[in-house]
Amino acid sequence: MKVAQFKALLDSIGSLTTAQLTELSGLVSASKSKQVSREALDSMAPKACPRCACTTVVRNGVRNGLQRYACRGCHKTYNATTGTPLSRLRDKELFEAYAQCMRKRMTIRESAQELGLTLVVDDNYLGRLTTTMLAG
Ligand SMILES: [Zn+2]
Repeated sequence: MKVAQFKALLDSIGSLTTAQLTELSGLVSASKSKQVSREALDSMAPKACPRCACTTVVRNGVRNGLQRYACRGCHKTYNATTGTPLSRLRDKELFEAYAQCMRKRMTIRESAQELGLTLVVDDNYLGRLTTTMLAG
């Protein structure tokens, strides 16, 4: 966000109603949680290419909130989740929260409702979680 837009946003906060502030607070909290999760994922990015193990890699922009790397050896790109069950999973930041729901023995329906997922997406998380548990 540009500095001028951010300043305008901050200036408008003083004129919000209590209900609007509550809604904004919830959005800020959820967004911050997603950002922290993405940073945690980024910190686990392999230093070598997961495909060819070449260590000559360069940063190659950010996609879906995750740092992307380009391998100079095989000319492919990757991010921290490439080759993991989280690869190509939408809303990756919810995966740990989903695992927590499963640990609490919540049903699939309860887990989906808790995290605001549809049952189709929830089924995808369950499949990835099962794959992860079987692998490790
Ligand atoms: Zn490579």
